[in-house]
Amino acid sequence: MSEPHGRPAGLSPYDGLVARASALDTGDPLAPLRDRFMLDPAGPAVPAGPADPAQDGNGTVYLDGNSLGALSTGVLPRLTDVVNREWGELRIRSWEESGWWTAPERIGDRIAPLVGAAPGQLVVGDSTSVNVFKALVAAVRMAPAERTEILVDADTFPTDGYIAASAARLTGHTLRPVPAAGIAAAAGPQTAAALVNHVDYRTGRLHDLAAVTAALHAAGALAVWDLCHSAGALPVALDAAGADLAVGCTYKYLNGGPGAPAYLYVRRDLQPRFDSPLPGWNSHADPFGMAGDFQPAQGAPRGRVGTPEILSLLALDAALDVWDGVDLAEVRAKSLALTDFFLECVAALVPAGRVASVTPQAHAERGSQVSLRCADAGKVMGELTARGVVGDYRRPDLLRFGFTPLYTRYADALRAARVLADVIEGTA
Ligand SMILES: *Cc1c(COP(=O)(O)O)cnc(C)c1O
Repeated sequence: MSEPHGRPAGLSPYDGLVARASALDTGDPLAPLRDRFMLDPAGPAVPAGPADPAQDGNGTVYLDGNSLGALSTGVLPRLTDVVNREWGELRIRSWEESGWWTAPERIGDRIAPLVGAAPGQLVVGDSTSVNVFKALVAAVRMAPAERTEILVDADTFPTDGYIAASAARLTGHTLRPVPAAGIAAAAGPQTAAALVNHVDYRTGRLHDLAAVTAALHAAGALAVWDLCHSAGALPVALDAAGADLAVGCTYKYLNGGPGAPAYLYVRRDLQPRFDSPLPGWNSHADPFGMAGDFQPAQGAPRGRVGTPEILSLLALDAALDVWDGVDLAEVRAKSLALTDFFLECVAALVPAGRVASVTPQAHAERGSQVSLRCADAGKVMGELTARGVVGDYRRPDLLRFGFTPLYTRYADALRAARVLADVIEGTA
């Protein structure tokens, strides 16, 4: 017996959402990938309400993969082998025999398809912060000397802003912070380069990489992209957009592990002009020549600095296995469906007026997170975490929930909204 619109008679709106979540999870082509992550099998974190299907055996709902991606099950066996055999038994031979020396480029080539780059343009190593520095100074050095200004997203992640300021000081340029949406229009004949975030870490707003790059190029400026909150969450098309340089971290949506090294992309035709502000022996054309003068390597290795972080690089290498064969269009479709469903559940369950989404409704402007403005957000997130829903709090008033399409379920989105509603009602 069904009502005309399809909801079985006698079910509450909440029951309807439970049924929807279940159907969406059943039809999710990415669902099998969840088994490749270590997530709570049946956690005790929330005292489940009686007969509440959304709380049945779910354990902690992890919505913080945009800060630290979950551990994939292949990492520990790989690291065990790296430590025991490659390091323990082969020792220094592993630089050659286990491929340690070329790991930064080899793993860069594994990330390349996730950011729309042909091979030979990415190198992995150092933190995002360090790579922002390399990319921005190198971009400024490529630009004509009469271009004296660097543009930066005014609401950028702090490290990008600090480093851009230092890069400007070091190169004798002026740093001009501009709201990200206005960066393309702000570029002019004085602009050398702009440092732009693909997705805003706070609001989850997605910027149009192709259009902004084209506008910067039309103004004669170079485009340096920070992909920290987009790579692994949605398709990125660096080559197609003609982006100049890009950086991104690997411990968020790429699940590389805490402190996993970042990547640097330098478009192939710009590589000969890439003049690193941190030339190290690893970026030398002949590292073992131990020459006194610096001759830069060709290609992506020019972006290297010193000895690579082998243990964390190879943890990342193993973590990237889950991406083999994954269709990024499916990742994007699920990310949008998950965030849509979460917003719908929040609207249905949380008392009106208590939270407001600062994440754009329009799909074309949405990354893979939902940020809700909320009074007492810090306290609310503390309560959520205590009840097994882990997101994060960004001062002063934002609750941030990351939706990682490889392992987040629709039931997780519903449960998060349900617990949020309970917490907010409790703080009324
Ligand atoms: C996460 C993030 C970083 C992190 O930089 P680290 O050097 O890895 O600490 C930098 N920029 C943005 C935009 C980020 O989201």
